[in-house]
Amino acid sequence: MKIYSHENQMLHHPQSYFSRGKMREPQEKPERLTELLKAPEALDLKVTTAKDIGIAPILAVHDLGYVDFLKNAYSEWIAVDEDMGKEVQTTIYMPHSNDGLGILAKAAKYQADGSAPIGEHSWTSIYWSAQTALNAADVLLNDDGGQNNIQVCLTRPAGHHARKNAAGGFCYLNNAAIIAQHLRQKFQKIAIIDTDMHHGQGIQEIFYDRNDVLYTSVHGSPINFYPVVAGHEHERGEGDGYGYNVNFPMPHGVDESEFFQFVDKAIETVKLFNPDVIVHVLGFDVYKDDPQAKCAVSTQGFKTLAQKLKALDKPVIVLVEGGYCIEKLNENLQAFISGFTAEKIINNK
Ligand SMILES: [Zn+2]
Repeated sequence: MKIYSHENQMLHHPQSYFSRGKMREPQEKPERLTELLKAPEALDLKVTTAKDIGIAPILAVHDLGYVDFLKNAYSEWIAVDEDMGKEVQTTIYMPHSNDGLGILAKAAKYQADGSAPIGEHSWTSIYWSAQTALNAADVLLNDDGGQNNIQVCLTRPAGHHARKNAAGGFCYLNNAAIIAQHLRQKFQKIAIIDTDMHHGQGIQEIFYDRNDVLYTSVHGSPINFYPVVAGHEHERGEGDGYGYNVNFPMPHGVDESEFFQFVDKAIETVKLFNPDVIVHVLGFDVYKDDPQAKCAVSTQGFKTLAQKLKALDKPVIVLVEGGYCIEKLNENLQAFISGFTAEKIINNK
């Protein structure tokens, strides 16, 4: 198993966000990564510092204008001769019929909701989060011995809500989509299985008309729950992609065994697709005490989840995304990793 991270991911430090009628205290804080990094340390596993693979794989998914906005929005924002606060934030979303004249118009073009503020150092973290994920993909592109079948990327900020050309829901660059696209250079079929508490509508949107990248997601029903406008069962893809987008929205309040019934259905979908590589979007916000949880997965449940993925016997790249019960991230990640390492020992006999 290889684990990746980069310290530059600590720099993004949101101060506030607007959601469901009020300004809220950010849950997506740098301390999340500090806690996640304690898990490999406790298990005596090495964490590889991600190297720079460049901007090209990012631009293979995201529009240049949007990436340019993420990179330069903060400096343009503070250059305006008016106090607009220390973070780029908007309450207007106008992706079309908007020439982006002025930073407020650009924010209205590229920020889909109030929960993706951009501060002074956000771009550095956003960029290195994508690079952290890309490092795992690059190993598979260059690997000839199958030595890196399980790779875990500790990524922050997360990616699955990011659209091709818009930020939202704490997400800026869609890491899962970026690495799926990057992997297509060598591999024919990529499956993305998303078990974060929230539906990854950004991934769905990016691959909606394609049959080379399967997207299947287990998440809380989007009725009155983020991302609110996507994640229903009837959203199945379009054109060539019809049938390659498979959503399993869970009623709010399900227990762990019900969660795994949905996960098993998603895994069956992955098996039918028979991918060359699996990308797993792992959210610890399904944990029973997480402030975002609408289901109740236990710490041991994360071990079970990893064992189910390991049993598929395919290369897996795990992207750690949501998870806001910060004091339990270390323990929950340790449990998840142990689901892979225990299996590995059995395989080596
Ligand atoms: Zn989430």
